[in-house]
Amino acid sequence: MIVQPRVRGFICITAHPTGCANNIKEQIKYVEDHDKINGAKNVLVIGCSTGYGLASRIVAAFGSGANTLGVAFEKPPTDKKTASPGWYNTAAFEQEAAKKGLYARTINGDAFSNDIKAQTIDAIKNEMPGNIDLVVYSLASPRRIDPNTGEIYNSCLKPIGQTFSNKTVDVHKGEVTNVSIEPANEDDIAQTVKVMGGEDWQLWMDALLDADVLAKGCKTVAYTYIGPEITFPVYHHGTIGRAKQHLEQTAQALDQQLQQAIGGNAYISVNKALVTQASAAIPVVPLYISLLYKVMKDKGNHEGCIEQIYRLFADRLYSDNMPVDDKNRIRIDDWEMQDDVQQAVIEKWLQVTTENLENISDIKGYRDDFYKLFGFNRDDVDYNQEVDIELQIPSIRED
Ligand code: NAD
Repeated sequence: MIVQPRVRGFICITAHPTGCANNIKEQIKYVEDHDKINGAKNVLVIGCSTGYGLASRIVAAFGSGANTLGVAFEKPPTDKKTASPGWYNTAAFEQEAAKKGLYARTINGDAFSNDIKAQTIDAIKNEMPGNIDLVVYSLASPRRIDPNTGEIYNSCLKPIGQTFSNKTVDVHKGEVTNVSIEPANEDDIAQTVKVMGGEDWQLWMDALLDADVLAKGCKTVAYTYIGPEITFPVYHHGTIGRAKQHLEQTAQALDQQLQQAIGGNAYISVNKALVTQASAAIPVVPLYISLLYKVMKDKGNHEGCIEQIYRLFADRLYSDNMPVDDKNRIRIDDWEMQDDVQQAVIEKWLQVTTENLENISDIKGYRDDFYKLFGFNRDDVDYNQEVDIELQIPSIRED
């Protein structure tokens, strides 16, 4: 099939297998071009197929030679429709891992369910060469089915307390407009906390501890975002911020629990704002990211997911001295939050209009990254060529 991008709102409903594979190879090359990390050897990544979770799996495997078990929720291909990009990413990841003789198995299904947790534990017990010494929790989901009650919860991205109005951008039309978002009610907040808070992370760690599949000293890390004041109402102080607060509280409780049980630790890492399928859905944030990219690329310290996570593993999680902030969080958003970077972004934020968008922001870089998420916009792929869309994930085909 010839596969071209088909964008609908803030997602693209097609994905290109070769483009996704080349994205993976590029990320692996980045890691292999850098120093080896004396990190974990058996790693579980929950949310392993795109964005920060995918980068974590790549850094673990190709930076430390780790065996990886990944959990993701991706759409397989049919004879007429392409798979979701995370499917093709995972297929390519497993192929590259196999070339290096690394164990890589993926479980595709709802990580919130008891069944997927049980399948994961089975795989660790029966196939994984050793117990898990790192659990990365990197889910981003709009909904969650409670595994015990069957009730469905939906997360939302709303301010709390009052209506929030600010600039936003239609990335594809290049139009800067004003958006007003009505405040959340108590139910919106509770549902968002239920989906994106720490409850499921805790359930995972309880299940793994109960099954005795965590190695001594096992670490776990989950990701959050804080960002600048302009995005506070819709992020840090909004419904998603409440969920992230819950995630941080969960990290504190888990840290105690793991220390006592196995001498382990739980961490929160605050990461940089980047173009992923999850962040593309947040109002206001894509405009901020476009301006941030411009400032950081001009300054020479722009990073994508792979650079961020390489730094997280090499300079934080597996370095002798791990700096944390006053709330015990790892900060790899440190370069994003530098005063001069934020000052420059604010100046541009005040000026930006539809007319000057292309000049003062990196909207082009944003769009490029957006298309790349789906395997498009790569110079090394001929998008007019037929490609096999029914590519399978090796470890899933064997089942
Ligand atoms: P993403 O959309 O790229 O990845 C989400 C992952 O979760 C995918 O692997 C997907 O398959 C998996 N997933 C979703 N629902 C699932 C389910 N029910 N069962 C199994 N797997 C499921 O998102 P991302 O941006 O990489 O976000 C990952 C984490 O990083 C989130 O906690 C997010 O808040 C955080 N974060 C993101 C940014 C950013 O700018 N993108 C910044 C800081 C922190």
